[in-house]
Amino acid sequence: MKSQKISTQFFVNYLIIFFLILTLVLTTFLLHNTYTSIVENDLIIDVDKLIDDFYNYDLKTAAKNQKFTSDDYIEVVNEDYEIIDIYNSPKNIGYKYTHKELNKQVYSNNYYEYYLFYIEDTDNFILLHMNPIEQYTEVILLFIVFFIVVFFVSLIVYAKVSSEKIVIPIKKLVNGIEKISKGDYDSKIEFNATNELDLLKNSINQMSVKIKNEINLREKSEDNRKKLILNISHDVKTPLTNIIGYSQTLINEKDLSMDDLQSSIKIINTNGLLANKLINELFELSKLEMNEEMFSTENTDICELLRKKLIEYVSEFEDKNITYNFNIPSENITLNLNVIKFERAIDNLIQNSIKYNGSNFDINITLEKNMDKITIIIEDTGIGIPKEYHDSIFEPMVRVESSRNRALGGTGLGLSITKHIIKKHGGNITLDPSYLDGCRFIITLS
Ligand code: ADP
Repeated sequence: MKSQKISTQFFVNYLIIFFLILTLVLTTFLLHNTYTSIVENDLIIDVDKLIDDFYNYDLKTAAKNQKFTSDDYIEVVNEDYEIIDIYNSPKNIGYKYTHKELNKQVYSNNYYEYYLFYIEDTDNFILLHMNPIEQYTEVILLFIVFFIVVFFVSLIVYAKVSSEKIVIPIKKLVNGIEKISKGDYDSKIEFNATNELDLLKNSINQMSVKIKNEINLREKSEDNRKKLILNISHDVKTPLTNIIGYSQTLINEKDLSMDDLQSSIKIINTNGLLANKLINELFELSKLEMNEEMFSTENTDICELLRKKLIEYVSEFEDKNITYNFNIPSENITLNLNVIKFERAIDNLIQNSIKYNGSNFDINITLEKNMDKITIIIEDTGIGIPKEYHDSIFEPMVRVESSRNRALGGTGLGLSITKHIIKKHGGNITLDPSYLDGCRFIITLS
C-alpha cells in the first residue's frame, strides 16, 4: 500500500472542500447565464405578429399564436391607461392604471416584467405581463438547496472516511497503549493505514514485543539466579559435609590405623580443594560479570600465544594417546589480549576435552585469519555434548552429567568463565551444532 502523510490527507480534504465550493459558484454562474438567455429568448416574442393578429382577429387569437405561459397575461389599455381588453389578466376591463403605477410596473417590478407597445393608428397600447423571473429564481434556489444538501452529505461522508483514516487509528493506538501499560503485551494494535499512524502502530507493536522479551529475559535470569544459588549451595554442601564428617571421625576415633588416618586426611584435603576451587571460580565469574576487575590488555601475537600453550599439553596428549593436530599460521597476528585470562579460556577448552573424553581421541586446534576476523577452532572427536544442552551449555552450573562431572572435579563454571573472557575481548564463542563427531568450539575475534 502506498504511504500517505497526514498532511497530504488534510491537504486533500481542503482541496475537496475548495473544489466543492468552486463547483457551486461555477454551476450557479452557468445556470444564471443559461437561464437568463433562455428567459431572454422566451421574451423575444413576435410583437408585430401579435399586433397584426390583434388587428385582424382578437386578443385571444393573438395571444394563442405566441408562447405565453399560464402565468403571463396581456392587457390592452387606451391613452388614459384604462383597460379595454384582457387576456388571462387578473384585472378587469375598465381598470385604470395611474401614470405612476404603470411606470413603476413597467420598469421596476421584481417578479413580473412588463412590456408596453404602442399600437399604431390607434391610441391604444398593448401591455404584456411576462413572468419569467419567478421561474428562474425558483430553479436557482432549488439548485442552491440541492447543492447545499449534496455539499453537506459529501462533507459528512468525507469526514467519516477521513476519520476512519485518522481518528479511528488514533483511538486504536490509545486503546493498545492502555493495554500495554496494564501488562498485556500479547495484544497487537491492528488497523490498516497508509500514513504516519501505520509507522506509529508498527513501532508500538515492536516496542510491546521488546518489552515482553525483556520481561521474559528478566524472569529467566531471575530463575537462573535462583537455580545457581541452589546449585552452589548443593556443591559447597557436599565437600563441607565430607570435611566435617571425616574430621569428626579423626577427633572422635583415637586409635585409628595409619592407613585410615591417611585416607581420611586425603578425603578432607580433596574436598577442601574442591570447595576452594568452586569458591575461586565463582569469585572469578562474579568479577567478570560485574566488571569489577581491571581488564588490562597488551598487544600480543596470538599465534605465538597459542603455540606456546599447546606445547604445554603435548606430553599429556601423547600419554593419553590423544592424536593432536595444530594448524596455526607462522605469521605474526597481533591482538590486544589479556594474556592470563585468554590463556585461562583456552586452557578450559583443552582441559575439558581431556577431562571429559579420557584417551584415544583426536584434538584439532586451528587458527584462521579472514580479513580482520580471527577464528580459533578447538574440536575433538570425543563424546560430544547432547543437542538439548547446546543452548544453555555456556550458562553457569550447566553440566551434562552432574554426578560424573563432580567426580571429575568439574564445577560447571568453566565454559561460562570462558565465554565471559572471550566477550571481554570483544569476541564470541559458540558450540558448532553441525559438528557431530564430538565438540567443536569456535572463537571469533576481531
Ligand atoms: P566444568 O567447569 O565443570 O568442566 P564446563 O562449564 O567447562 O564445566 O562444561 C560444562 C559441561 O559441558 C560439562 O559438564 C561437560 O559435560 C560438557 N563439556 C564441556 N566440554 C566438553 C567436551 N570437550 N567434550 C564433552 N563434554 C564437554
